[in-house]
Amino acid sequence: MARPGEHAAEARGRADDALEMALADRANDPQCEACTSPADFFLYEPERVAAFVCWEHVSPVSAVVSEAEPIDRPLAVPLTEEFA
Ligand SMILES: [Zn+2]
Repeated sequence: MARPGEHAAEARGRADDALEMALADRANDPQCEACTSPADFFLYEPERVAAFVCWEHVSPVSAVVSEAEPIDRPLAVPLTEEFA
């Protein structure tokens, strides 16, 4: 769970670290966990969620990210320029 009042920028920093680790020991590009498409996002919530998903499966579980708003859902880190 994100801490109350935690800001998206801090959460994003941790999500980026988690993504780096998740990608580090992969030989292939990550695939969506819900279908066979290439992953477009990395969903992350500390100690709860760490999953690769495509753009079709990123909703409705991902958070809408605003720098100013606290988050209480997994962050979706874009893997490709297309969604960044
Ligand atoms: Zn998918």
